[in-house]
Amino acid sequence: MTARASAAPVDRPWANWARNQRAVASSVVTPSSIAEVSELVVRAAAEGRRVKPIGAGHSFSAIAVPVDVQVDLENLRGLLAVDTATGTATFAAGTRLREIPALLAPHGLAMENLGDIDEQSIAGAISTGTHGSGSGFGALATQVVALTLVTGDGELLTADRRTDPELLHAVAVGLGALGIVVEVTLQCVPAFVLLAREQNEPLATLIPALHERSLQSDHLDIYWFPHTERALVKTNTRLPGHSTVRPPSDARRWFDDEFLGNTVYGALCRLGALAPQLVPTMNRLTSSAVAQREYSDRSHRVFVARRTVRFVEQEYALPAENLAEALERVRDVIDRRGFRISFPLEIRFSAGDDIWMSPANGRATGYLAVHRYFREPYAEYFAAVEEVCVALGGRPHWGKYHTLTAEVLQPSYPRFEEFAALRDRLDPQRIFSNPYLEQVLGS
Ligand SMILES: Cc1cc2nc3c(=O)[nH]c(=O)nc-3n(C[C@H](O)[C@H](O)[C@H](O)COP(=O)(O)OP(=O)(O)OC[C@H]3O[C@@H](n4cnc5c(N)ncnc54)[C@H](O)[C@@H]3O)c2cc1C
Repeated sequence: MTARASAAPVDRPWANWARNQRAVASSVVTPSSIAEVSELVVRAAAEGRRVKPIGAGHSFSAIAVPVDVQVDLENLRGLLAVDTATGTATFAAGTRLREIPALLAPHGLAMENLGDIDEQSIAGAISTGTHGSGSGFGALATQVVALTLVTGDGELLTADRRTDPELLHAVAVGLGALGIVVEVTLQCVPAFVLLAREQNEPLATLIPALHERSLQSDHLDIYWFPHTERALVKTNTRLPGHSTVRPPSDARRWFDDEFLGNTVYGALCRLGALAPQLVPTMNRLTSSAVAQREYSDRSHRVFVARRTVRFVEQEYALPAENLAEALERVRDVIDRRGFRISFPLEIRFSAGDDIWMSPANGRATGYLAVHRYFREPYAEYFAAVEEVCVALGGRPHWGKYHTLTAEVLQPSYPRFEEFAALRDRLDPQRIFSNPYLEQVLGS
């Protein structure tokens, strides 16, 4: 690869955060301008090589696996423009989500919603349908009002909600299949505070009320430790930006989030991997150690956690009303098959949307996520959960592990064929493809 962008021969293999996906690209290119991105795409197309932009490598699926040229957008970061009248902000596509709060703060703005972590690049997060929780809020891609990408012929394509909402719906969750996103404009909201309540509740009353509970709070997030009868319920309420904040003390934050959430929990997971028979007892201890607490803070500090215990994850987007049944069935499968699962299942909700390849397309959605410590085998457990979720109308998170193929996915997405046709137009040579995209898109 001899594009003007700095190209380095690969000295070490690429791996994702969970270490369940690895690859060796033939070169790593680090463009510093949109012109350099166009140039490298044109050159790769001429040489018959494939190009894969990488964000933070936080996907568990093989979606980001580079085949030939790995494009690192770390030099395309930062805030490019803000319009305070409309509350919109344009970012270079490699910007990490964790950089955004400080960039928006001087303008009194914030992102409307976030997921559990903020390590992701903005392009990677929107391209895979990354979401947070809240039945009144869509995935991160629903915050996008304009997006510019370099297509397979090196040309720039801008999709803008004002001028062509349909095109924006087509490209906002693009799976990295349509081109290299270089700029993203977000509809932001006035900065706000979140009041967080965390409590331990019995599963017996929680499960039948799941969907209803999701409609009663701004953001509901539930963690259920298998082999126990109780779950940790986190409810976040949105408050105006001028509200007083009462964050946990540094000592409490360290003890709850860092020590219990990461250090002790990591040690328990290592133990559970060596002695699975101890997992039910460990889960009962962990689940009862989670104390009730209430605090408030700037929105991003409440939404986001630090995850240092490595795991592999699978997540299914189900019709919201099917989530309780999915959870019951997975619970049954865990018992019947004798799985010993140390990681909690995570339950969240989101609004439906019009984005063609969004797992929440056309329906209010309930998400069911399952995890396994990265040193444990996950395929058998995930396959059993996948079977339950697909039977109940589930669609996989594009950035999380799953085994579905285009044949199964196509009937589930009303705009699947149109997305495929758009891909034919924007990337006829398939220079942005890799084996994962061949699996889920069929060519
Ligand atoms: C600890 C952890 C917690 C997580 N929590 C959540 C959560 O709460 N909610 C949730 O929904 N998901 C969550 N995820 C999944 C994660 O948000 C997604 O997998 C996300 O895509 C990762 O972003 P990334 O920048 O690492 O993208 P990568 O994994 O690097 O890439 C993902 C895809 O985006 C494409 N891409 C990257 N940059 C560009 C670009 N510039 N142009 C075009 N395509 C591009 C890649 O080619 C690839 O197809 C979590 C993952 C981890 C590891």
